Parts: sequence; structure tokens; C-alpha cells
Amino acid sequence: MKRIEIEHNKELKPLNTFGIAARASGFVAFRDRGDLAAIFADPSWSGKSWYVMSGGSNILLTGDYDGLILHPVARAIEEVERDGEAVTLRVQAGLAWDELVAYCVTNGYGGLENLSGIPGFVGAAPVQNIGAYGAEVKDTIAEVEAYRFDTGVVQSFTNAECRFGYRDSVFKHEERGSVILSVTFRLPLRPHFSIGYGDLSREVEALGGASLSAIRQAVLSIRAAKLPDPKVLGNSGSFFKNPVVSEQEAEALRCNYPDMPVYLVPTGVKLAAGWLIDRAGLKGYRQGRVGVHEKQALVLVNYGGATGGEVLALADHVIVAVRERFGVSLVPEVNVL
Ligand SMILES: Cc1cc2nc3c(=O)[nH]c(=O)nc-3n(C[C@H](O)[C@H](O)[C@H](O)COP(=O)(O)OP(=O)(O)OC[C@H]3O[C@@H](n4cnc5c(N)ncnc54)[C@H](O)[C@@H]3O)c2cc1C
Repeated sequence: MKRIEIEHNKELKPLNTFGIAARASGFVAFRDRGDLAAIFADPSWSGKSWYVMSGGSNILLTGDYDGLILHPVARAIEEVERDGEAVTLRVQAGLAWDELVAYCVTNGYGGLENLSGIPGFVGAAPVQNIGAYGAEVKDTIAEVEAYRFDTGVVQSFTNAECRFGYRDSVFKHEERGSVILSVTFRLPLRPHFSIGYGDLSREVEALGGASLSAIRQAVLSIRAAKLPDPKVLGNSGSFFKNPVVSEQEAEALRCNYPDMPVYLVPTGVKLAAGWLIDRAGLKGYRQGRVGVHEKQALVLVNYGGATGGEVLALADHVIVAVRERFGVSLVPEVNVL
């Protein structure tokens, strides 16, 4: 059996982008199935809770964690197939997401360029089906390989079995007990560019027209202008999901707020949570050591030294204000631990 190094009483502040101070009773880096089998076989941890923390960019820590934090560190990219149309890459969970995007853009593999600049690791990308600038990672995923904690078996999930939805997948529900080891992407070699979202087409044109590298550069510069850098101001990106309401509810809201942005989606009408928070008067609102970001109302920020509880109290304040003003319920996108 492999020997596993467990760090005790580990400080998690440098490992979460909100910059919240909290400790875990145990912390362990893992590479593969063998490491996980050894960890779960260790009698000192049997029966204790565990949680996967990768880049810590979508987690709000609300206190010390009495359990074991599992942290993926394997970072290999393997080409498993190539035909005239596409390349298939199997990528290990511990690679930084944006390193994969940069690699694909450099090599002419399409599909991920609109997702440039998203923090976090590859293994977390399927969990909430990351998305930005009109793209979602689900459209590039062929398969996800995960270790099932209950059986100790590594299982492959096809794209359909991942049951991807808006910021959602089976890994947030029935498969919470699975640890993702690798993600397999099928990426077109003659990509179809998608630049119709927001300011993207203008930025791309200014860079000389659509190409993988122009789209990446444009997305990175739009993101840098709009989103706070977690190294400067702790945050986890969008704190809330964009709410989806029925067509009737959207119509009623549009009567009162004709400038309200709406997007038709298969399940109804998606509203922009940032717009709702802004129009509820909360953009730039500050509550002690936490606040609503002054440029992007969907982002809650830690001005320094805040606790997870303070962030949650602010989130509650935002939820109540939006419900009172618009009758719409906001749901957090971030995972509260
Ligand atoms: C500035 C900023 C901008 C952002 N912009 C976007 C954006 O545009 N679009 C977007 O979708 N998201 C965005 N995010 C959110 C976040 O970056 C993504 O959700 C990212 O995929 C999280 O990756 P992570 O490695 O940090 O995951 P973590 O925060 O470590 O974990 C997130 C969740 O996934 C689970 N998890 C992580 N790794 C694994 C694994 N290997 N196996 C099983 N479960 C796992 C964790 O248990 C947790 O529940 C942003 C965040 C920040 C800070």
C-alpha cells in the first residue's frame, strides 16, 4: 500500500480565492486512484468527512473543516486520438484550467478559447459546467473519469451521463461522492468561432478578426477590465447563478423594467443576476469587511480579513433585496463549506 503524506491543521487561506482564513484537520495531495485508495484505507481517517478542493476558486469556507481536504496534483495532457476533424485529449484533474486553454490555443485546437482566464483546475471544470462568453465546457467534454468513494472503482462518465446543465452536473448531486481524476476533451481542428456575446466581437475585430489567439486575448482583456483579481481582492467570481424564470414572469418584469436583459433558454427565460443586484441599488454596497464589487455586482468581495459568515450575511442581504424589489430568488453558485 502506498504511503500518503497527510498535513495536519492545514491553513487554507492561501488555497481559496476568497482569501478566507480557515484550517482543515487534514490535507492531502493526490495523483491517482492508488493514492485515493490508500487515503480512504487509512484507519485514522475512516468515517471522517472529506472534500475535494482544487483551485479553491468556487468555494466559500465558513469555518474550520473537521475532515480531510483532497487536493489533486496530477497535471498531464495526453493525446489519445486524432482524426481529420478533431483531437481528443485526456487531461489530469490537477492542471490549471487556463494552462490547458493556452495549450489548446497555441496548438490550434478549438472549443476552449472563450473560456480563457477562468481560475481553477481542469478536474473542477465539469462539476459546475464552467461557462463564459457564450460557451460552456460541456460542449467539448467526451468523458469524465472519477473515483467512486463508495466502491473504490474508477468509473467513466459519458457526456450524457454527466447530465450537464447551467452551472450544474451530476457531480453536484448523486455523484458528490466521486473524485474526478481526468477529463477527456474532443476539440475541433477547424473550429467554428463564437464571438457574438457581449463586447467580444468588437474586441476581436480590434485585434484583426477572429482566430483562436485573438479570441483568447480579447476574453482575457475583457475579464481583466471587469473582474477583480483575487490576488488583490478576495472573491470567487459570480457569487450567484443567473436566475431562470417562466416566460410569464419575465413578461411581467419587462412591463415594469423594459431595459431588463433577458435570454431565452430551453427551461424558460434567464435573467442577469448582476443587473438585478445593480438595480436593487447594491452595486458597490459595502458591509464591513465585505461588499458587492463596484464594477460587477454579481461578485462579492472580501476587503481583507473577512470570515465566510460575513460573506454569507452579505449574500443574504442581497438575496432579500432582490426578492423584495423583483420577486426573484437568487441562488448561490459558489459552494459553501
Ligand atoms: C475571478 C473569478 C472568475 C471566475 N469566472 C468564472 C467564469 O467565467 N465561469 C465559471 O463558470 N466560473 C468562474 N469562476 C468560478 C471558478 O473559477 C470555477 O467554478 C472553477 O471551475 C472552479 O475550479 P476550482 O479548481 O477552483 O474548484 P474548487 O473551488 O476547488 O471546487 C469547486 C467545487 O468543485 C468540487 N471539485 C473540485 N475539484 C474536484 C474534483 N477533482 N473532483 C470532484 N469534485 C471536485 C469541489 O469539491 C467544489 O464543490 C470564477 C472564479 C473567480 C475567482
